[in-house]
Order: sequence, then C-alpha cells, then structure tokens
Amino acid sequence: MSTEKEPIVHIQEHSKDRVKFILENVDLALANSVRRVMMADIPTVAIDMVEIESNTTVLPDEFIAHRLGQIPLVSANCDEGLRYTRDCNCMNGCKFCTVILSLQVSCSEEGKTMMVTSNQLEVIPQQDLYDDGAEEMSKRPENFGQPVGKDDAAAEPILICKMRKGMELKARCIAKKGIAKEHAKWSPCSAVGFEYDPHNRLRHTTYWFEDDVKSEWPLSENAQLEEPVKEDEEFDYNAKPNKFYMDVETDGSLGPQEVVLKGLQELQTKLANLILGLKAEPEADTTAHGEAGFGQAEAAPPGWAVPAGAAGATGGGWGQNQALTNGTGGGGAWGSTSPRAGGSGGGAWGGAASHTRYWWRMGCWC
Ligand SMILES: [Zn+2]
Repeated sequence: MSTEKEPIVHIQEHSKDRVKFILENVDLALANSVRRVMMADIPTVAIDMVEIESNTTVLPDEFIAHRLGQIPLVSANCDEGLRYTRDCNCMNGCKFCTVILSLQVSCSEEGKTMMVTSNQLEVIPQQDLYDDGAEEMSKRPENFGQPVGKDDAAAEPILICKMRKGMELKARCIAKKGIAKEHAKWSPCSAVGFEYDPHNRLRHTTYWFEDDVKSEWPLSENAQLEEPVKEDEEFDYNAKPNKFYMDVETDGSLGPQEVVLKGLQELQTKLANLILGLKAEPEADTTAHGEAGFGQAEAAPPGWAVPAGAAGATGGGWGQNQALTNGTGGGGAWGSTSPRAGGSGGGAWGGAASHTRYWWRMGCWC
C-alpha cells in the first residue's frame, strides 16, 4: 500500500466570479504552479487593435485604445472556440481568430455629461470566409466577445470616457485570443490569493514588528483553521508546507470553475510535454541534428530553436506538440507554440530544448 497521501481539495466558497479552496497533500512547488498557470497561461479574448475613425473627446486616441484593451470580454471556452491569429489560415483576421466590436457614441445633449461605457460596445458579426471552422464556432457561447456584464442589468458597466455636447467617438476594435504572459489584459484573474502556514510555524518569512510580534501581526482568517504555535514548541527544520489556501477571483471573462480546471489542464499539458521531451532517445536526437533538424533549428528564433528531441527527427512531432499545446490542429507549428511553450519553458519545446540544444551545439561548434 502506498504511503503517499492523495491530494485533497476542499471548496470553502464558490460564487459567480470567485472560488476559495484549500489544497492539501501537495508540494509547495505544485501549489504555486497552479497559481501561476491560472494567472498567466489561460487564454482569453481581449481587444488588441483599435481603429479610431473619429475622436473629439478630451482623451487622446492612445488613452482610449489602452482603456478598451483592459475591458474584460466574455471568453468562455475561448481555448477551443477561437484560434490564435498566428495559427489561423487567414491573412488579416477572420471570424475564427478575431472578434470585432464597434463603439459609436456622440453627445448632443446640452449641459449634461455623458458616460461612454463598455455597454456601448457592440459585437459585429463577421462574414463567412471559410467553412472549415463551423465546429469551433459552435463551441462559443452566444455572448462570446461581449463586454462582461453587458447582459446583466445589476452589473456596473466600465467607464471608457466622458463626453459633453458636440463630442463624438467612433472606433472599430479587434479582439484577439491571447494569454497574460503576452499582456496582463488577457489574464482571466483579477486576483489569486495564496497562503500557507498562517502562523509562520515554518518561518519562511520574517514578521516585521516594533514591540510585540504576536499582537502586531494580523492573522488571516485561515489562521483559525490551524493550530497556533505553542510557546515551547520546538522548531522542526524538516517540516514542509502541506496545506494551501487559494482564493481565485476572476474578472468575469471566465468563470472561476473554468479558470481552475483549465489551469490544471494546462499544467498537465506542460508536464506531459516535458516528459515527452525528456523521454526522447539520444539516437533520434543525433539524426535530427545531423539532417533536417539542423536546418530547422537554424531558422528558428533563439530560446526555442530546436525541435523536441525525437519528435523533431520524425517530422510528425511538430504537429503532435502543437496539438498537445493548443488542441486546434490547424496552422503552422512555429507560430502556434512560440509564445506559449517558448515563453513558459514548460512545453515540449522549452522542456526538451535544453537537452536537445546541448547536443546540437556540440555537433555544430566543436
Ligand atoms: Zn483568421
């Protein structure tokens, strides 16, 4: 019988845009990885380009474009329902890789200040260019790409700018799929709370105090769930944290359940790709570098230049890696994996690159 304890998840609170849970029997590194993946690796849709036709408000174009980019858009199932523009077959954006929103507001009322808000952004339906993506489209909810809270009368809209009589703002916004490693506007989380060891039993941090550490340090509500440190308690140098308190709050673009589940899925994919890369046979590596692999590696940008081990040698590995990372199955492998796996270092590319690149350099420079 295994002595390893199974991980336990205990959900404390779950609402429309927030989930609080306790994660037990996992390593600190794993718990922190889950946090980081949820914040930075889950794709959402956000306004990325703005074409301003007319702007006579007091705010400059750049200011407004920046504000539009920060507005959370409904991104449910964005992972499968929208392509990265770099993976798409189109030349200049299409309905499979972009969502177009229009903002047309003018003020004609005397003596009144008019608020331009996210509720005035309208999703514009796009023409059918190709028919090969009908399945992707079916995975999107009806309000996909709409500003969060637009269909909820109780939700406060997001203020873009204010207008007086005679002012006008006309803009066409192109929203794209992305992750927060490229820009924070793509993060589905507004905050992720992460705490362990609320009584500082492990002394991973030093409490700042003036007179009395106990009375001056505010204990979090999680401290009630653990035994306080006793006066005569001996310090255990080998103790490890085992209980992690997570509090995931989303901006509404994705639900908290989707954020947590997609985060775990993403982490699993990254680790699977790493294992796949590490399992590559050295013989296969040599073949790849000696022949086709050499040329491919040369053409690639630095940092993720070399195909993943045996995958590169067989040729089929490119598509395979891409499918693991994105699950879209279309487009070129270079574009599809570049910022995600390359940037994170967790995908097959990043994972195998250090091992494979070593071989390649040895063969090339020595
Ligand atoms: Zn496209």
